[in-house]
Order: sequence, then structure tokens, then C-alpha cells
Amino acid sequence: MAKDTVAEIKERLSIQDIIAPYVKLHRAGRSLVGLCPFHKEKTGSFHVSTERGTWHCFGCGIGGDGFSFIEKIEGVDFKGALKLLADKAGVQITTIYGSENREEASKKERMREVMNRASEWYAGKLPNSPAEAYAKKRLLADDTVRAWRLGHAPDAWRDLLEALTAEGFTIEELLAAGLIKEADGKRGTYYDRFRNRLMFPIRDATSRVVAFTGRALAEDDLAKYLNSPETDLYHKSDILFGMDAAKDAIRTRGFAMLVEGQMDVLHAHQAGFANTVALSGTALTDRHLTLMKRYSENLMLILDADSAGFKATARSAELALRAGLRVKAARLPEGKDPADLISEDAKEFTERIRDAKPIVEFFLAELADKERDPHRLLRSAENIVLPLIAAIPSPMEREHFIQAAARTLSLSSEAVRESLARLPKQGVVAGVTNAPVAPVPAKRSPREFRTEQLLAVLHTYPETPLANRVKSEYSRITEAEHVPQAVPPEAVLFQTEQTFGEDPTEGAADELLRAFEEIVVREVYQEAVADLRRAEAAGDVSAIKTAQEACAKLQLRLSAIG
Ligand SMILES: [Zn+2]
Repeated sequence: MAKDTVAEIKERLSIQDIIAPYVKLHRAGRSLVGLCPFHKEKTGSFHVSTERGTWHCFGCGIGGDGFSFIEKIEGVDFKGALKLLADKAGVQITTIYGSENREEASKKERMREVMNRASEWYAGKLPNSPAEAYAKKRLLADDTVRAWRLGHAPDAWRDLLEALTAEGFTIEELLAAGLIKEADGKRGTYYDRFRNRLMFPIRDATSRVVAFTGRALAEDDLAKYLNSPETDLYHKSDILFGMDAAKDAIRTRGFAMLVEGQMDVLHAHQAGFANTVALSGTALTDRHLTLMKRYSENLMLILDADSAGFKATARSAELALRAGLRVKAARLPEGKDPADLISEDAKEFTERIRDAKPIVEFFLAELADKERDPHRLLRSAENIVLPLIAAIPSPMEREHFIQAAARTLSLSSEAVRESLARLPKQGVVAGVTNAPVAPVPAKRSPREFRTEQLLAVLHTYPETPLANRVKSEYSRITEAEHVPQAVPPEAVLFQTEQTFGEDPTEGAADELLRAFEEIVVREVYQEAVADLRRAEAAGDVSAIKTAQEACAKLQLRLSAIG
């Protein structure tokens, strides 16, 4: 049963084992603290409790257990997290799928197997092949070729097909994985999709091969690059090439670099720009941006001098800005793609990266450079730059760029603002929000709020003099016999550990108790005043006297607390 698997994993892996590969943690009192991987910060607000097996970020207001952490950081669902952690823990998963999904799940599992096998097979064909010679010619180092598991699809029709069917994979499985094709007009005749190509495995963010790109080795091949078709594993609008190798660097460097092709990614990584990814044969989508945002909120577009027109770049930039990313762009010199430039002159590439400009300023400069006619410049700026400014969610940043645009175009900032207001309104990009969504805390009364804090003290430091004092004071103040048994929310528990530290004294919660008592007594006092009003209205002399005495007593108690 899945539940047993979960329990077994939790037994074998501590929360620290699970989180430490992603977040550098240090001990701070009773919890471990690090920089939150889900939002940008300079001081750690990401807390991990090894005792409770939970995590919580005070910046994003989110938290959970090891499974939810893996789901969020790897972008997988619960089953995916279960699988990853089971592998890590060395726990066998017997049945993780419901019976109706089992067939589909095992089909997908089988597809992963065949893709993985194909990747090994292509890599095995690489030594001394024309593909290896081509990789060398493009100045890819041996280490790079190995690390990215490049391969060779031989110049033959059925080599892969025969090899994999001999291993027991079926024609249907190879077809579904996009590795073979049926011949046009010859039903039942199949051949390898990739032939005479240098093969780049495309992996998802958890390093599983989901597709391939093949670079033609013959000069006269019409398709220079050939991609796998979309399959159950491969959805190109979900995949960023290189993300599995780039995610850590994106997190530590604080930005992702987006280039155009696989070769660019390999050269960038080879030169130390390990935070580089590429699209695989599609335009940038919201899903790509969601994936990127998991690692950083900053995106740098690296543009060839001759890369697809302004419009396409502006569209990508606009989408990214709307998704709440900060976008910069770097322009490469005429006639060079990143792969060329890095392999020929890594220093110049580094300089170009350093000189990258925020996207609005980038376009303003490019346009001003291109359009000598002031009227035409205004029109292009209106078409390209204003939609970018409008897409920026932060009002302060928007204002900054309005002023930059006004300066470049020799306009007043009022004129720019007015043109902005006239732009057709764009909807917010679906599914992409600006900040991690924090669960909205239910509105609690001051009394509930303080009660929660007191319970958290009892829960965190059980059977200490502090807990005993809190218990007896709680009973005295509320005149209740027992303290409620509820377990306070994780956020409150983490907060308590931070406030009270490792070994709090008996009186550590006195200030909290005083605040609690004040709230409770004030509530009782207000009731007593209401009683007094009622007695006065009824003209009941003895009730008035009793109520007055009660009020006076409570007032005295209040002033003693205050
Ligand atoms: Zn956070």
C-alpha cells in the first residue's frame, strides 16, 4: 500500500536528507535554517524541523513535509515525488498507482525504459563515429560529450529498430516513443526516425530522457535539426533543454540564461555558464516560465545578431514580464551565435553578459540605433516597448522604465504614461502568478491568536518548567481545567522555536502570558459592563450593585496587568 511506502520512506530518510541537496542548511536553535529555494532572499527564512519532519518558509508562507518539498522543487506530482524518494531511500514501490491507472502508468514506465535504452544505444555508437568527429569540430570537450551523453544515430535505416526489438521492445512501443516511423505508402514497414545524426538526449528537470534532437551530419540534409515528436513523455512546451543540469546554477547565480539551440547550451555550460537552458523547437510558453520561476525570477535572453526578429523576442519578453520575471537581454556581435562566440572568445561573451540591459532599455537602445527617422522611432517604440512596460507588474519598476523611455524618446513622462493608458488591456497570464501563493490564514481573534502561541510553547517544550508554568497560568487566567489539545499550525511552531530558542527559562513566556491575560480579562470586563447596562435598564438595584462590584474588580485586575 502507498501509505506503507510513505511511512517506510519517512523512516529511512530524514527531512534533512531530503532537503539538504537543494538548500544549504545551518542549525539555528531547534530548527535548521537556509535560503528559501522558492523565493529570492538574502537572509534565510526557510526553516526545517528535523523533529517534526516539516519545513516552512516565512517569506512565502508555505510549508509541508518532505514529499511536498520534492513535489514543489522538482515540479512533479505526489506520485512523482514518491517515486523519487523511494529510489533515494531504496524502498520498493509495490503499488503506487490506482488500478485504473496502472496500465497507463506501466506504459509510461515502459516508454521511459525504451528512451533510456535508446539513449545508451546512441551513446554506445559514438566512439570513432562521424558524429564524434563533428562534436570535436564544433569544439565540444570530451567531458561535455560524456556529461550530456551525446550519441550517434548511424547512417542506416533500421539499426536502432533491430537492436531494440531484439531486446524485447515492441514496434508499438518504439512508435509511441517516436523512435521509429512507418514508411509512407508501405504499411507495416518501419524505419529509424533519426539517421546519420549527432544525437542530443532531451531530459526533463529530473534528468530522465524524454526525447531527442538530432543534428544532421550530411551537409545536404534539409532538416539541420530534427526533434522527437510529442509523446506521452515529451511535451515541448513543458521542457527546457538543459534544465536538469542548469537548475542548481540558476538558483545559486540567481538567473537563467536562455539561448536558442542545444549546441549553445553545451558551449555555455562548458565555459562555466551552467545556468543556461534552451527551448526545444518551440516558442516560449507560460509553462516554461513556471518551470524557470521555480529556480529564479530573473531571466536573461541571449540573442544572436541575426536572431528571429524583434517581434518574436518582444513577445517572449512580454510573456516573461507578465509572469513576474525580471528580464534582461544581451546582444551578440553580428554573425555569431553563442556557441561560436564562447568557443572562440569566451571573454567577449562574458563581457556581453555583463553588459546585458533590462529588456525595456535594451529595446530602446536597439530601436534608437536602427531607426534614424524620429517619427518611425516613436512608432516602433509604441509598438514594441510600451507593451513591455505595461507587462511589468511592479508599479515602481514600471515608473522607472516610463522615465527611461521618455528620456530616450525625448518625451515627457506624462506623454509616455498617456500612451500606456491607451494600450489595449491584456489579461493576466493564466496560471502564472507573481509571488508564491501563500495560504490565506483564516481571520483569528486576538484571543485565538495568543492561545495558539501558548499551545505552541507547550507543544515545543513539553514537560519543562516553562510548560508547567504556561499550563498553570492558562488555567488560572481562563478558569478552565484543561489546556486545549489542538496542535498549532506549523508556521506557529517554527515561530515559537525561533522566539524561544533551544533551552528557554521557566519565565520565558511571561510576556506572552501577560498579553493573553489582558485579552481574556478585557473580554470578561466587557461582558460585565454589558451586564451592568442590562441591570441599569431593568432598574434591578441588587443586580446593579453586583455588576458594579464585578466591574470594579476587573478594572483593578486590568490595571494590575497593564
Ligand atoms: Zn520562501
